[in-house]
Amino acid sequence: VSPSPAVRLYAKELYGKELAASIRADAAASAAALASLGAPPRLAIVTATADESSAWYVRSLTKAAGQTGIECTVADLGSSASAEVITGTLGRLSRDPAVHGIILQTPLPEGTRLAELAGAIDPAKDVDGANPLSLGRLVAGLPAFAPATAAAVVELLEHHQVTIRGVRVVVVGRSAVVGKPVAHLLLNRDATVTVCHSRTPDLASVTREAHILVVAAGRAGLIGAGHIAPGAIVVDVGTNATPDGGLTGDVAADAGTVAGAITPVPGGVGPVTTAVLLRQVTQAAGAD
Ligand code: NAD
Repeated sequence: VSPSPAVRLYAKELYGKELAASIRADAAASAAALASLGAPPRLAIVTATADESSAWYVRSLTKAAGQTGIECTVADLGSSASAEVITGTLGRLSRDPAVHGIILQTPLPEGTRLAELAGAIDPAKDVDGANPLSLGRLVAGLPAFAPATAAAVVELLEHHQVTIRGVRVVVVGRSAVVGKPVAHLLLNRDATVTVCHSRTPDLASVTREAHILVVAAGRAGLIGAGHIAPGAIVVDVGTNATPDGGLTGDVAADAGTVAGAITPVPGGVGPVTTAVLLRQVTQAAGAD
């Protein structure tokens, strides 16, 4: 008789909510201090999409910012906005001294690219690390805002006292928003990092080498028990919609039979990402 999945699952869960709450409390304290000086932190969100999940994200971020004492303005340019209109808006916000953080929301209108448009965001206000200059500075080991998700992965590992220095890390995914920056943040912390992607042959043979496996592919169930070394730490960045309106990661449930610890989806990287983003806004405001 095979045991039920509930019995077989034994990996420890690396939750993000407690860490997120503490980061948000720090950000709220900074925001209150700035407000008392007459300069409350302000985040500008630029959107150019009719995408419903993006609209949901903007509403929830606006609410979280408000709870933290960060003022928020949304510039909705419409899904047919041209690259010139978007970069013009980003440039205007970059020059506005009352705006401290700027986010360009994805998806973007067809034919435009985040990396190209985000070049118009002042790196000092680039709180989600979207300007290629921010990624370049990060790679060079210079101060820069990292994409909040990538920074959240590192914060979550450090919060749970996972050793990064000297260990073998495998990152699945090479996007400029998650895979690449997370690889460099961990490299900067003395991990030995391998990056995999959709053209990596025999993915499992590479991921099984990892002490820490960071998965950011956006493919539900891509990583299963056969991809994981016994006792490995698995960070599941993936967020995939389920037919019942829920959310699931890239890591299948059977991974829990092999891994030492896994971040849950939802409740792992997600809440920490929002908290890091808000903290980066207060940092940008404080640096003025
Ligand atoms: P993306 O589509 O830009 O990049 C996906 C990457 O995964 C690519 O580099 C691709 O080569 C790789 N990939 C795809 N299929 C693969 C396969 N079969 N084998 C190996 N590699 C494969 O996505 P992204 O923007 O980097 O986001 C990745 C995931 O993280 C998505 O699910 C996204 O929703 C999620 N995400 C979560 C947060 C959060 O806060 N939790 C934030 C941003 C993104």
